Amino acid sequence: MIKIEIDEGSGFCFGVTTAIKKAEEELGSSDKTLYCLGDIVHNGMECERLKDLGLITINHADLRELHDVKVLLRAHGEPPETYELARRNNIEIIDATCPVVLQLQKRIKRQYEMGSGQIVIFGKKGHAEVLGLVGQTQSNAFVIENFDEVTRLDFSRDIYLYSQTTKSLDEYHRIIEYIQQHIAPEATFRSFDTICRSVANRMPNISQFAARHDLILFVCGRKSSNGKVLFNECLRVNPNSHLVEDPQEILCEWLEGIDSIGICGATSTPRWLMEQCRDAILQLLDQKTA
Ligand code: SF4
Repeated sequence: MIKIEIDEGSGFCFGVTTAIKKAEEELGSSDKTLYCLGDIVHNGMECERLKDLGLITINHADLRELHDVKVLLRAHGEPPETYELARRNNIEIIDATCPVVLQLQKRIKRQYEMGSGQIVIFGKKGHAEVLGLVGQTQSNAFVIENFDEVTRLDFSRDIYLYSQTTKSLDEYHRIIEYIQQHIAPEATFRSFDTICRSVANRMPNISQFAARHDLILFVCGRKSSNGKVLFNECLRVNPNSHLVEDPQEILCEWLEGIDSIGICGATSTPRWLMEQCRDAILQLLDQKTA
């Protein structure tokens, strides 16, 4: 009997799972239309599933036109202006901002209110979470996307460094080291470890998972950048790894001569899709023995 294991560490992070649950609860318990500001998750199939349940995805321009409605804020968080706009338009906010992001917003706001120095955020410019963080500083925070941009900081002034929750830990540490080496003796430098381990730990976890199975099915959209990185890691430790977007892509010949199958995926892979892959394998195995 072939053993099949679905990786517990794969799929949506805690913040996204909670936001989706909140949306489902609202959709099930109220007859008022529920809007969501931005895609609730970067996965087309999951967005479609929630759309079928009644969730309407809108952007910030749409929000300005809406009045007296209910709007869900997703896990990435929003800047204060969004709450202000909602208040003016009598919009009820269902706030699904991840608690980790919310904490980070509060820390940055406190730091900004204390006055001096540069608040620097290591993050992707224009990313929803980063816009929410920069919004805590009345847009005065300085965003650096990568290590190369660290040279643009003013090392003669105090620097308070924060990171978007999903950035690379290694690169963050390189940035911290560089600032430590270049900050003026009279200036203060403080860095805060605000990277979320729910995503940062995926790489070591997925290597261990991929190494303990004969066959790996990595379930994810081919366009997912996070998916590419994690799949390459699977391939590195287990060359018998295959990327599939949906269960129909699983080939019977992959199941020959193996004892264990591991099913895993990216941070944007829904759990139900991995379960569908498991069911498809069981069906193929049944057909083989019939
Ligand atoms: S902070 Fe972590 S758990 Fe929260 S949304 Fe971001 S990655 Fe997910």
